[in-house]
Amino acid sequence: MHPKIAFSEDVGLTMARNELQRWYLEHERPLPWREQPAPYGTWLCEVIMQQTRIDQGTAYWERFMHRWPNFQSLADASVDEVLKEWQGLGYYSRARNLHKTAQIICDEYPQGHPTELNQWLALPGVGAYTAAAICSICFGTPVAAVDGNVLRVLSRFLGIHEPIDRPSGRKPLEAFAEAWVDPKHPGRHNQALMELGALICTPHAPDCAHCPLQKECTSSFMPHKKGSMPPFKQGKTKVQDVALHFHVIHQNGRILMQQRPDHGIWGGLWTFPSSEAPWEGSINNDVIPEPLDQCLIARGPCGTSVKHLLSHRRFHVQFWLWSCPEDCTLEMGEWHRWDSAELLALPRVLESSWEDVKNSASQKESKTNA
Ligand code: SF4
Repeated sequence: MHPKIAFSEDVGLTMARNELQRWYLEHERPLPWREQPAPYGTWLCEVIMQQTRIDQGTAYWERFMHRWPNFQSLADASVDEVLKEWQGLGYYSRARNLHKTAQIICDEYPQGHPTELNQWLALPGVGAYTAAAICSICFGTPVAAVDGNVLRVLSRFLGIHEPIDRPSGRKPLEAFAEAWVDPKHPGRHNQALMELGALICTPHAPDCAHCPLQKECTSSFMPHKKGSMPPFKQGKTKVQDVALHFHVIHQNGRILMQQRPDHGIWGGLWTFPSSEAPWEGSINNDVIPEPLDQCLIARGPCGTSVKHLLSHRRFHVQFWLWSCPEDCTLEMGEWHRWDSAELLALPRVLESSWEDVKNSASQKESKTNA
């Protein structure tokens, strides 16, 4: 075991913790949720900021706070309204969990909100990091909030060379983080570590000369070349290439839209009906996919094909136009005019291709009708 992990309350470490907090009080960014930290705004911020850049997330946080300033107003909104407001942030299960959690809190805590770590952990979409961040910041609970930033800082600070994406690397870091939390100011300590990771101990260019932990840090004198400094990872998930066909099915100027199931990709959002196929290495516009219903008449590709990358899948997206004869009833979605379909909560991949696909489909439709 690393000596610092075994003796986490030694004098040097207590001094380093104090230095860290002094640095934070001087350098923290003036972010709106820090002005008057309260459970609702802190929870909202922690959920929005997962997998999101801070400048992008701040605009969303402000819009949500303006439209739904408390648990009750968010619980009273419809899930479609929340998904629409979330549009562009990705990982839509977060938005659905946000809404569900607001409703549970209003049902189970009519006078307020949960105050205990275990109560927060029982809520949808609230993991160990989020619960710890909320409880330490809002209620002074002495618990460590360990996210990717904190793992990076601590793995360098302690010189942990075990891969942090494996329990052998991650567990000692979490144990140290718990032991090192300042019992008097846990919220400030957690935020200071996260801020240090965001501003000084950055992934590719740690600024050790200006770091409050430099004196005690095991890595401060290591070469800062890429790959020579912790954290280390064992392996990344392989990205799988998939051909994704969106079927733009039209009938009398209307198109068919489908709401996707809650679980899985773009859960709860609206898309054209879709199908997937193995990726063959290139898009071939001559190979029309299997029709979703035998009554459909293929009109060929429409719009420009695009690539869309998720965490472990790369979609090669192609749009196909189909005509649906009037006597054919498709039960697989809702018929919309283009302008009303555009108001649905759409995933970003459709939002960015919408005008292109709409124009291309409309041109092909009018040629067919001419
Ligand atoms: S001294 Fe350098 S490596 Fe160590 S925590 Fe600070 S910025 Fe990171």
